[in-house]
Amino acid sequence: MLKRIARIIIVSLSLTIIAVGQPNPLSTNEARPTAKAASEVELALEALGAGTTDELKRRLLKDRSVALSAEYRAQASAALPEKAVKSRITRGPLHQRVEAIFQRVLQLLERSGKVELFLYQADVPGAMLWRGCVLLITDNLASELYDSELAGIIAHELGHANLMDEMVRARQTQDQRATRVVELQCDAFAMLALKLLGYGPGFYLKGLRKLETLTVAAGRAQSYQQTHPDLAMRAEFAKRFLKLLAA
Ligand SMILES: [Zn+2]
Repeated sequence: MLKRIARIIIVSLSLTIIAVGQPNPLSTNEARPTAKAASEVELALEALGAGTTDELKRRLLKDRSVALSAEYRAQASAALPEKAVKSRITRGPLHQRVEAIFQRVLQLLERSGKVELFLYQADVPGAMLWRGCVLLITDNLASELYDSELAGIIAHELGHANLMDEMVRARQTQDQRATRVVELQCDAFAMLALKLLGYGPGFYLKGLRKLETLTVAAGRAQSYQQTHPDLAMRAEFAKRFLKLLAA
């Protein structure tokens, strides 16, 4: 248990750096598909396995996150970056909308009450799961996304709680290809969640594209490169996974 919590902290810390100082973890770079790209897509599909939507749901969405104590969660909240804490948004129409969608996704995943929403103002758009229990999302991202796109982005981040072990292993061995495979698995998680919520699962990719555009507009494009798949790879994976979902 302690070991797993320590792992969550390791992953969260590395994501934090991205959240406060660099382009966000979901941003992507458009590029042509390459032979290397195809193999990550294959690996992610292989890890997910085949099956009907129901089978995928049982396997993929099953809560594998660690049960975190109230004390741990309080500590995680207390450790949030000061800059984000100062610009937190806790009321108003945008907060209401994001909270409502966030709760719908949590309910689907049977994680109500286990993760807290943290909406805040920022220059660079982004979303991330903080220490497994706080979903950070910026106002400039949330306000630009349709409900379906927003639900997809939120679900992707919550998917990281399920794939924490895989991500920690990839980071410890500095296997960037493996981190990209985990990202694609979280994309699958998001698309499946959208389908089960009654949204078109294809809206997830639209949300990613919008995020990319916003990130570029904020003057942050290219930089977190290797740890995340580029948009072309994500689009290729989405195409293949959506076919699986439709079958
Ligand atoms: Zn991610």
